[in-house]
Amino acid sequence: MQTSQSLFSRAKIHIPGGVNSPVRAFKAVGGTPPFITKADGPYIFDADNKRYIDYVQSWGPMVLGHNHPSIRQAVIDSAENGLSFGAPTELEVQMAEKVSELVPSMEMLRMVNSGTEATMSAIRLARGFTNRDKILKFEGCYHGHADALLVKAGSGALTFGVPSSPGIPADFAKHTLTMEYNNLESVDQAFAEYPEDIACIIVEPVAGNMNCIPPVDGFLQGLRDLCDQYGAVLIFDEVMTGFRVALGGAQQKYAIKPDLTCLGKVIGGGMPVGAFGGRTEIMEMLAPLGPVYQAGTLSGNPVAMAAGLASLEQIQQQGLYQKLTKNTATLAEGFKALAQKHGIPMSVNYAGSMFGLFFTDIEKVTNYQQAINCNTEQFNLFYHGMLEHGVYMAPASYEAGFMSAAHTDEVIQQTLDIADKVLANVAQ
Ligand code: PLP
Repeated sequence: MQTSQSLFSRAKIHIPGGVNSPVRAFKAVGGTPPFITKADGPYIFDADNKRYIDYVQSWGPMVLGHNHPSIRQAVIDSAENGLSFGAPTELEVQMAEKVSELVPSMEMLRMVNSGTEATMSAIRLARGFTNRDKILKFEGCYHGHADALLVKAGSGALTFGVPSSPGIPADFAKHTLTMEYNNLESVDQAFAEYPEDIACIIVEPVAGNMNCIPPVDGFLQGLRDLCDQYGAVLIFDEVMTGFRVALGGAQQKYAIKPDLTCLGKVIGGGMPVGAFGGRTEIMEMLAPLGPVYQAGTLSGNPVAMAAGLASLEQIQQQGLYQKLTKNTATLAEGFKALAQKHGIPMSVNYAGSMFGLFFTDIEKVTNYQQAINCNTEQFNLFYHGMLEHGVYMAPASYEAGFMSAAHTDEVIQQTLDIADKVLANVAQ
């Protein structure tokens, strides 16, 4: 930790909080974040050369594990030809074809540089298409840091949006309605109140930003039906779930077809990439075909496309998602059994290769209020115990964990052996 500690002190001089994205600063769990020098397969290594089994996986992109040789080689090969042209390339065509093949609801799509850009652009497009201003999101769902989406719910079903960060004018947020996740009734009421004003619903089809909360039966279908009934656009934010909970994302797993889909993370194989796309009729509203403006100097960057394409090629391997799903269940159920053994109340959720551990006696956590009422003290003890013994998990109790194809049975068993010791300590 010594080198990380001195790097963290240096970092704090010129970088706010010492990090380029807040969660990395370990504020929720306390302590010094390990500074990472390299990663390979299921492991990351810190500046003091300590190895960790990694269940953050760069917050989702590395579904194949770190430093996959095919992706690395694709980046090297592409970089030989130059880094950016600001002009069309065949790689972008291949990427669009591949994404449409794997996620058929994305009849047309546009590449961007992050998940935030994808959701921000999809919202603008939905508003342009419907000529309506209001958007509906869910409490605890994170869709990146664009102004209109960085809005918390007040209590009650139909509160107007209140910005959750200074710097967002209340006027920007007032068109954002925030409802309870997995509560269809609240959405129904919102549409009854504003039948002609809601442009779209944006939802994480498996919520991964309030720990991991899958949709309850009928929730996603209910959203689809309400959007159809009221002429609103259904946007699935699959930045996290895309190519992760199933090859075709959550829309394939739950068999619901959204109008628009946002992607990020896995689609870039570790490079800064996002995409949004969907029904042709809606996508044709985008400039230069239509009036809704959206652009990007580095969008469709060739090196990023090469990495993303290599990642999408590899995830098509036979049996990959079955294995990921099985391993995730083994790990999550293993944690739960160990918690029980040590008399610690714990509930687990998982979907595909996403999982969440909740230190709570609630049997199934289904919404934000339940998620934030978990025992953070126990989580923090657990977190630091795992870290000390070489297991790197998301440094906040409200973040999902990720399994990769590089996590072997042996690595999973090692993780559970460590958890056994750590949970025994937490129980004391
Ligand atoms: N949407 C979801 C569901 C996410 O999980 C995230 C990031 O974690 C985003 C959007 C924003 O993506 P990015 O951080 O690439 O801007």
